[in-house]
Amino acid sequence: MKISTVSVVVGGYGCNAKCPFCIRNQTPEIDYDPRIKKADMHIGCRLGQQAGATTCLITGKGEPTIYQDYIDKTIEIVAPYFPFVELQTNGIELPELDKSHCLEHWYSLGLRTVCLSTTHYDTKRNRDIYGDKYLSMVEIKRILEKYDLRLRLSVIMYKGGIDSVDKILSMVEAARRLGKMGRKVQLTIRPVAVLDNNSETSKWTKEHLISDEVYKEILCWANDFPTTLTLSHGGMVKDINGQNLCITDCLTTNKSTEEMRQIIIYPDGTISYDWKYESAFLM
Ligand code: SF4
Repeated sequence: MKISTVSVVVGGYGCNAKCPFCIRNQTPEIDYDPRIKKADMHIGCRLGQQAGATTCLITGKGEPTIYQDYIDKTIEIVAPYFPFVELQTNGIELPELDKSHCLEHWYSLGLRTVCLSTTHYDTKRNRDIYGDKYLSMVEIKRILEKYDLRLRLSVIMYKGGIDSVDKILSMVEAARRLGKMGRKVQLTIRPVAVLDNNSETSKWTKEHLISDEVYKEILCWANDFPTTLTLSHGGMVKDINGQNLCITDCLTTNKSTEEMRQIIIYPDGTISYDWKYESAFLM
C-alpha cells in the first residue's frame, strides 16, 4: 500500500468565509471533539509513514486557523513523522496569527508551508468568493516571509474564474512575481469538485464546472512544457519557463488496489481513505 499524503482534519465546521463551492457541505458529516485523539493520530501517522507518505496536510471541514490550539497539538504530533508539514487556509486569519506569534510558534514546531486556498490572481475576484477580508497575495507573502514560511497557491478553477489557458498563464506569472519577494512559490490548480447531491453547493459547482473541452485545451497546452514530476493519482507537475505548475484533481483517488492517494485522520480518531464515502475507513 502506498500513500502520498496524510491529511489531518482539525477543528469543526467554523469558517470565516462562505464559498459557493465549499466541500464541507458535500462530504460526510464529522463529530467535532476539541479533545484531540492523540493515540489515534499517532496510528494514522505511523501508517502514513510506513506507506511512504512525505507530506502531512493540516486541513479542516471549516477554516483550520480558527482552531489554533488544535493546530498547536497537531503539528507537535505529526512533525516527527513527515518532512513536509503544510497548513491549508484561506489566509484571512494570517494578520492575527502574525500578531499573536502563532505563525512563529508553528514554524518552530515544524510547519513549513502555507497552502493558500484561492481562486484568482485578482484580489477583488477572490473577495467575491471568500468575502471582503480576503487578503492580497502580496500581503500574504509578506507575512509568511517574516517566518520563512513557504507559500503554495492552491487554485480552484471554475467557469468565470480561472477557466482558460490565458488565465492560467496570468496565474503562473502572479506566482512567479510572488516568488521574487523571497522564497519561490508552488502553484497547484484543480477544477472545482462536483459531487452528486441536491444541495445548493452541488448546484453551483455543476453550473461552474470547467468543461471537458476547456480542460483538454489546458492539458494540451501544458503538454508543450516539461513534466518534472508525475503524481501517482494522475496529477503532474510542469515547468512553465521556471515556474512550477501542478495540475491535479482534488478528490481523485487512484482506484488501483495497491495505492491510495491519501489517508485522512478525523477529529474523532477515524482514519479514512476517501473524502466522499463514509464507508471508506480503515479504523
Ligand atoms: S474557506 Fe474553505 S471551509 Fe471556508 S467556506 Fe471556503 S471552501 Fe468552505
